[in-house]
Amino acid sequence: MRLLVIEDDKDINRQIVAALEHAGYAVDHALDGEEGHFLGETEPYDAIVLDIGLPKKDGITILEAWRASGRMMPVLILTARDRWSEKVQGFDAGADDYLAKPFHMEELLARIRALPVADAWTLWGGALWRAALPCVAVMAALGVWTMVAVFSGADNGALDIEGTLIANVEQSEQLDPMTQIQ
Ligand code: CA
Repeated sequence: MRLLVIEDDKDINRQIVAALEHAGYAVDHALDGEEGHFLGETEPYDAIVLDIGLPKKDGITILEAWRASGRMMPVLILTARDRWSEKVQGFDAGADDYLAKPFHMEELLARIRALPVADAWTLWGGALWRAALPCVAVMAALGVWTMVAVFSGADNGALDIEGTLIANVEQSEQLDPMTQIQ
């Protein structure tokens, strides 16, 4: 499982990354919204921990942008304590779960384990298929073209063989010495 942690508080970021790595996850991290948005858009993460209050680009904006572009990996948002509006905004933007600061690391680990982690095909298969579709279309067109060429070529060949046979019969009748004698 590969995770991304986007949190601008360096201490909290480091603690989360350390706990997740200790739990056996491969973890990338970002300290601002722009970098985090880019990583989540381009790398195949199994889940993302996303702080809402971030410099350069806030967590809600990032999450909405991912969902709008079809990125459906599970996202757990980190909200400020007692900011219920952040939780509502987060769920509206497509968050799968939230944790209010301050939190116990054990609870974060438990919530990540409980996330509906999708398999790689669900997350990336759709995108791969869309990318491959033009290639499949070209190959299908080439296949049809090849079949048409083979069949029309076979028809021409049959006609040629018949034509040659008929010509040979006519030629042999004309040149048959026995026929001339009788
Ligand atoms: Ca923050």
